[in-house]
This record gives sequence, structure tokens and C-alpha cells, in this order.
Amino acid sequence: MRTSTDFSVAIAGAGLSGLCLAQYLMRSGIDVHVYERDQSPFVRQQGYRIILDRHGLEALRVSLPRPLYRLALATGDEPGGRLRFTDRRLRDAFTITFKVEPDSTRQVDRATLRSILMTGLDGRIHYGRAAAAVDTGGPAGLRLRFTDGASVPATVVVGADGVGSALRAQLMPEADPVNTPMAGIYGRSPLWRDGWSVIPDALRTSGVLSIADRPGRAFFFTSMRFGESPREAFARVVPGAYAPTAHDYVMWGLLLRQDEVPVAARGDLLALRDLAVRNSEDFHPLVRRLVGTGELDTTVLNLFATGSRPRQWAVPRATLMGDAVHVMPPFGAQGGNTALRDAVVLGRRLAEARADGTPVEEVIAGYQDEMVPYAFRAVDTAAGLMRRLTGGAAAPHWVLTRVLPRLHRVTVPEA
Ligand SMILES: Cc1cc2nc3c(=O)[nH]c(=O)nc-3n(C[C@H](O)[C@H](O)[C@H](O)COP(=O)(O)OP(=O)(O)OC[C@H]3O[C@@H](n4cnc5c(N)ncnc54)[C@H](O)[C@@H]3O)c2cc1C
Repeated sequence: MRTSTDFSVAIAGAGLSGLCLAQYLMRSGIDVHVYERDQSPFVRQQGYRIILDRHGLEALRVSLPRPLYRLALATGDEPGGRLRFTDRRLRDAFTITFKVEPDSTRQVDRATLRSILMTGLDGRIHYGRAAAAVDTGGPAGLRLRFTDGASVPATVVVGADGVGSALRAQLMPEADPVNTPMAGIYGRSPLWRDGWSVIPDALRTSGVLSIADRPGRAFFFTSMRFGESPREAFARVVPGAYAPTAHDYVMWGLLLRQDEVPVAARGDLLALRDLAVRNSEDFHPLVRRLVGTGELDTTVLNLFATGSRPRQWAVPRATLMGDAVHVMPPFGAQGGNTALRDAVVLGRRLAEARADGTPVEEVIAGYQDEMVPYAFRAVDTAAGLMRRLTGGAAAPHWVLTRVLPRLHRVTVPEA
């Protein structure tokens, strides 16, 4: 598609939302460049698997060229599945069942999804460029400035630079995220051992949140089975494009209170894994096996935070999307889906502005007015779920961990 340079968009951050917006704008013929702080695409693990809901899938469907969208579905896990809430011994409390429709919910590998979102953006993603600020003025209207002092001109600047956004304080003053008491130590273990799945058949397509007797402690796990090997699927659909190495795995997370994670352990993978091992001792043996076989370099700590509603938007031609505005605790799987939805809501409005000449300030204000209500509904839902599932309220916790599991059969015997 031909692009025009009379209208240009600079995006800070090559995460899910930044790349999705870049794809959308490319398809609309808009000159777009993405500036990423990391030195290269896969310098660190960016999460493991992600559940896409209808908003996330719809965003990919309208942003990506059709073969790339099909590639996302082909490499993803099978549709449907369940989310089970259990006690610490994996006895069911209750279960949510997802629809078996390819376009309603899909679990995909995050690194594979990022590779798909990067495909076709050659020369438009610039690594090692850490955004620092937006300067107003100049012929294009704005300049995105980097930490090394260099800057680039743009008609519109979009901060998609995640929870620690460097642009947030300037663009959305006095709305920094608020810390929560909870954290997660996440890891990944191989799904197959000697040709056998480490996950019993009864949980084959289930995500499981196992809630400990003690409030504020839980363990989550889910398996990720690639529908088609990314290597083979990429070679078939986009020969030459980079496909990350991939094998089926189990993603898990130990949820605990932030004050249980010593500051000295926070950047230390071995210390984090030891902490996860020690704090999973009361759980089902399957949980302990998963932690014990975790791949060390995939261990990561996430301190849960909650976005604050914006009080004002300070630079009319610049805006934010995704976790930079509305980070939420990972309960309900809505963070990434909301970020992808932002990309399309904003992309659609920018494409219209470019086509019919509506002032950019107006379309950006329209995006912000549309985004804030749905995004903060998701933030409130995620924060509420976190409180209910991990908080100290005695009655709901007692029902979840003591009453409901007694009414259900044993899903996984403690062999
Ligand atoms: C354990 C876990 C599980 C999750 N599971 C799900 C799920 O199942 N479904 C779901 O919808 N969501 C899920 N989420 C949430 C989801 O991962 C995030 O909401 C989503 O990644 C946000 O996308 P984003 O584009 O805003 O930011 P990110 O994807 O975080 O991308 C931000 C990018 O900006 C770059 N950057 C940072 N600072 C700068 C700078 N100054 N200049 C330039 N670049 C910069 C970063 O390197 C990064 O590449 C989960 C989160 C966690 C922690």
C-alpha cells in the first residue's frame, strides 16, 4: 500500500497495541513508524500465552492482512476450553466454559503473536529508541524525543509504551497507576515429558486457578498447545519471516502478596524460583511438579497495579493506549484485549481524519472519550476479581475453598 508523508504517526512501544496500530495504519496507507526501547525484538520474554477474546480477535482481523490473521489462528490453541476454580488440592469449586467458536476466544503464544504483528513492518520498527517526551511545534506539529536527545517529527504521537510509560506523566498528568498488594511469579514448564503430557486429560483444555486455604495465595496454570508449529506455519504463509522457536508448554503463576517478595529477590531469577517452590508446598503435587520443572530463564515477577482514570489530556495531538493508560491486574484476561481494541478504535479514527480532513485534535479527543469508559470498566472488573479471589474477606474465601470443593468430585487424584 502506498503511504503518504503529509500525515505521519510515531508510536512509542512495539508491544501488542503499538504493533497492531501500526498494522492498521499501514493498511490505511498512513505513514507510521514504531520506536521500541529494547535493542531487538526478542531480548526478553514478554509473557507466555495470552487469551484473546472477541475484541482482541476482531482487532487482529481488521488490522492484519488476511493470511497473517489466519496464521494467528492456525498457530493458536484449539478454540473453547474451560477456566476452573479449585481449592488447593485441585478439587473443583466452579467452572466457566468458553464457546467453541474460532472467532470468540483463542489462546495464542505471545511471542508468536508478536512475530505475526511485526511481519510486513520492515523498516518501520526502530529498536533501541527509548521515548522520553513529546515536543510541540515544528512543521509536522510534534516531535517524539528519545532519551539520547534525538527526535523525529510526526503529526500524531501515540504512547504504547506499557505500564512504565515514559510519556504518561506528560500526556496524562496525575494519573499514575496505583500499586496493589498482590504480585505473581510466573514461569513456564515443558508440557511433554517422555512422550506423555504432564497435564492430566481431565485438564487438557482447562486453565486452573487453585485457591489456597490462606487468603492472598493462589496458583494458576494452563497449557499452550500450538495448533500448527509456528516454524512450519510461517514457512507456508510468510516464507522468510521470523518465527520464534516454540514447543508446547504449561504457563503457571504463583500469586502471593507483594510484601512476601523480598526486594533483593525481585530481579534475581533463582531467588524468585526458590520463592515459588517454597510457597507452593501446600498445593497439589501437580502444582509442585510444574514449579519444580520451570524453565529458569522464563521466570518473571509481575507486581500488579491498577490504572487511574485520566484527569486531563495535556497534548491534543498526542495520546496513549494499552497498559500505558489502563493497566489492570491479570484477572479476567482483558489487559491485552483492551489494548488491541484501543489500537483499532484509534486507528479507525486516524484513518477517517486523514481521508476527510477532520482535525486531528478532534479525532484524538473522540478516541479518548470512547476508550476511557470501556477500558476502565475492564480495570474495575479485573481489580474486583482480584479482590474476591485473593482478598481477605472470610466468607467468600470459605465458600470457595471449603464448601464448593466438597460438592464436587476429585478432578486430579493426588498420585
Ligand atoms: C502474566 C500475565 C498474563 C496476561 N494474560 C493476558 C491474557 O490472557 N489476555 C489479555 O488480554 N491480557 C493478558 N495480560 C495483559 C497483557 O499482557 C497486557 O495488557 C498487554 O501486553 C498490554 O499491551 P501494550 O501494548 O499496552 O503494552 P506491552 O505489550 O507491554 O508493550 C509495551 C512496549 O513498549 C516498550 N517500551 C517501554 N518503554 C518504552 C519507551 N520509553 N520507549 C519505547 N518503547 C518502550 C516495551 O519494551 C514494550 O515492547 C497478561 C499480563 C500478564 C502479566
